[in-house]
Amino acid sequence: MLRQGILRPSNLPKLKLCAWFRPEEEPSKAAVRGSSVDAIYRQMLIGLTDFPSGTAADIQAADWAVGQTDQIAGKNKVLARKEECAVTIPGFPKPGEVDALCRKLFCSFDLKTGQWYDYRLQMAAYAWGLMTMYFAETWTTWLLFCDLRRVYHYTFTYAEAARVVLEVVHAYEAAPPPTFNSYCAWCDNAGECPVLINRADEALALTEKPKFDFPALLANAQRLGSFLTACRAVEPYQQQATDRAKEYLLQKVDVPGWSLITRSPGKYVELAAVLPIVNKLGAERILQEYGHLSLAKYEKLCAEAGLTPDAAAIKTGAGATYLRSAPELK
Ligand code: SF4
Repeated sequence: MLRQGILRPSNLPKLKLCAWFRPEEEPSKAAVRGSSVDAIYRQMLIGLTDFPSGTAADIQAADWAVGQTDQIAGKNKVLARKEECAVTIPGFPKPGEVDALCRKLFCSFDLKTGQWYDYRLQMAAYAWGLMTMYFAETWTTWLLFCDLRRVYHYTFTYAEAARVVLEVVHAYEAAPPPTFNSYCAWCDNAGECPVLINRADEALALTEKPKFDFPALLANAQRLGSFLTACRAVEPYQQQATDRAKEYLLQKVDVPGWSLITRSPGKYVELAAVLPIVNKLGAERILQEYGHLSLAKYEKLCAEAGLTPDAAAIKTGAGATYLRSAPELK
């Protein structure tokens, strides 16, 4: 039976797409790292200087975020203890939690690891709760993307924050039928979700037809569209099915048509071993072997070095054309 996920700020973007989205209980590796860097950031703000569990890169990332927080808050007091950062949001079953906040400036801070993602709904929920708690008319939520070394912010009025959050809350409470969306593969309901099961049924019926005429299908735009929709239907199950097949094969249980192949692991050289060569040949020669640097890494290195990225150095590679389902699949 489908169960709805808990109404909490971080779930809002997914609940907006499907009121039944329920996050997997096991946190991903990325989420575990995010929590670890968050903890270091807050410890630094509180004044601690020893972080036994953090890697050097995580400590550096958190330190950058602390620098940004100091710049924004100036001499105003920043609160970072868990109990000071709890946010009661009207209608939400449990309090949320920002990473830090400055009551004087009516703003809060959230450190984010990884790539940019649209956190507007989550931030609106925090802003609404904090404005309610501190009788504020506007609230600014600062997002510190510590891997990208970028800072973004959203400023909400009370009415705007309440409106965007309540839109999702009302849809969640009304619980309309589930809607297929790009997060289905990460939903704990996926195994039992009728939307996914129907789509997979359709796909399997199509692929099991005795006379599958692929050239005819390619020649017919209408059938091609239905075929691609059906292919997409089984995607959310693919990873789980692959993992289970590997388990069977490792236990010597036959999975018709499949076998395990073990590739010998790729070999690589650690950075420390490259340094003597850099000293001998110079950085330029070694960098030629490393190839192009992504824009995100270039900007990150510039930020670390305190340099402004050189617009002329940023080149554009060849574009690519992708196929996208339109309108959004139901
Ligand atoms: S699997 Fe997708 S459609 Fe089904 S409940 Fe989860 S998010 Fe909604």
